[in-house]
Amino acid sequence: MIKKRYTVTSALLYANGPVHIGHIAGAYLPADIYVRYLKSKGNDVVFICGSDEHGAAITLQSKKENVTTKEIIDKYHYMNKKAFEDFGINFSIYDRTSNQAHHKNAQDFFKTLESKNVFTKKTSKQFYDKKNKQFLADRYIYGECPKCGYQHAYGDQCEKCGTTLSPEELINPKSTLSESTPIKKETSHWYLPMQLHEKWLKNWIEKGTLNNKKYHDVSSWKKHVIGQCKSWIDGGLQERAMTRDLDWGVKVPIKDTEGKVLYVWLDAPIGYISATKKWAKTSKKNWKDYWQNENTELIHFIGKDNIVFHCIIFPIILKMHGNYILPKNVPANEFLNLEGKKLSTSRNWAIWLHKYLEDFKGQEDSLRYMLCANAPENKDADFTWKDFQARNNNELVAIFGNFINRVVILTNKYWAGNVPPRNNLNNYDKIILEKLAHFPIKIGNAIEKFKFKEALAELINLSRLGNKYLADTEPWKLKNTDEVRTATIMNISIQIAASLAILCDPFMPFTANKLKTILRLSNFAWDDAGKIIITDNHKLNPTTHLFEKIEDEKIQEQIDKLNQ
Ligand SMILES: [Zn+2]
Repeated sequence: MIKKRYTVTSALLYANGPVHIGHIAGAYLPADIYVRYLKSKGNDVVFICGSDEHGAAITLQSKKENVTTKEIIDKYHYMNKKAFEDFGINFSIYDRTSNQAHHKNAQDFFKTLESKNVFTKKTSKQFYDKKNKQFLADRYIYGECPKCGYQHAYGDQCEKCGTTLSPEELINPKSTLSESTPIKKETSHWYLPMQLHEKWLKNWIEKGTLNNKKYHDVSSWKKHVIGQCKSWIDGGLQERAMTRDLDWGVKVPIKDTEGKVLYVWLDAPIGYISATKKWAKTSKKNWKDYWQNENTELIHFIGKDNIVFHCIIFPIILKMHGNYILPKNVPANEFLNLEGKKLSTSRNWAIWLHKYLEDFKGQEDSLRYMLCANAPENKDADFTWKDFQARNNNELVAIFGNFINRVVILTNKYWAGNVPPRNNLNNYDKIILEKLAHFPIKIGNAIEKFKFKEALAELINLSRLGNKYLADTEPWKLKNTDEVRTATIMNISIQIAASLAILCDPFMPFTANKLKTILRLSNFAWDDAGKIIITDNHKLNPTTHLFEKIEDEKIQEQIDKLNQ
């Protein structure tokens, strides 16, 4: 692979609650695996994320918790930032959209777009709460669902039947602020006429061409991502308001617009750029290299609920602004369910990352492994605690951990931890070394295609190869009769272990570090794996357990917690 520059983003996390495993499996772990791999291959990568701190749901949450909006965003920003760090998600920067620098950046974007006549300004009648003297965002209005009759449906969606609604459709609408019946009042907003962009969007998404030039390989995009975009475009894009009447957010940078802010989905993706600028300043880099250089690959990792924003709205904004590159790929994941039910922050049906980290100290990689092995890459997936336990015990402990354990224990026992020399290779040794050489390529190719499950399965297959080699050659039986042959077998086994240490880093960085310590490996890159990299007489450290077995009681505790 030619060395390249990459800008990788993970969806900004909405700062109205703690991060849970559904978020992790959707947009954060796959991005982290991808970035760790790209860096190991020697590429120049910036990995951007942060808190999305605007929008009506945040102000609603602050009312619910009876604290200020600032207290809400501070609480969840720092909580989530720490949880990501503790889980080994290695962002270059975890920024926040409440930063003044971001407000300025988003306002500059808006002004440029406004000056290029990208928006249309329109006046319409919107719901208004007379008692509280404010216009009501969709989430601030509730009423009876016209579809199912649920009495507390919100102005954007009925949470009972899932129907997408507009406030106008609600029967007997009420303000969530004062419980009064809202009136309709005139207000002006800036709209993005998305329908004007259908043609180039269609070519870009479905054919991979932009300005009549090849932009990306369509076959590298996930089918469900293209499918969702296609259904939006074929269904006819409409105009969407890019401003809101709200007192929380990025103020509209135009005279006489008191009480108006940018639509949260306009300012949030611009937040990726603001964060890059901030990171570049402290890292002595030029941010433009990461957003305005056509040789840079921009990749957005998101959940499928954000596809329209990253594949349609944000690309329109970037293209109309000018100078910016568009994403090369948007490998959105589908949803992860929990024990057969949809994850829900409001119904407390979730596994919160910070809680997991408290309850399973030192077992970060067990969850990383499970969430990757069972990732909702192309269809929804289900997380169960039993499955988590089985994968930890039967795959990590019994296959990966067991192989490393045997290799290191035998080397320490027979040669006091000094790697014995490789002598004459027989045919079987040569076959094993040839197979070993293929793994970095196989795993790397799968990662480059965003097939992380497949890549991880190959990593376990490499541990299986090591176990099979030991089982077939039985060095523990040979030791007394053929020391020379035993030395060769152990040497080859240690080379496999060293490759595992390098190749497991994107998926399980904590394990990689432990294994590197045991093997006393210095910093090797991806392309060193698959080769003979440990020299004769290299001294190993004593072994430590890479993975811990998880007992039934511990799993039952978690299941009980969920059902509380
Ligand atoms: Zn309903």
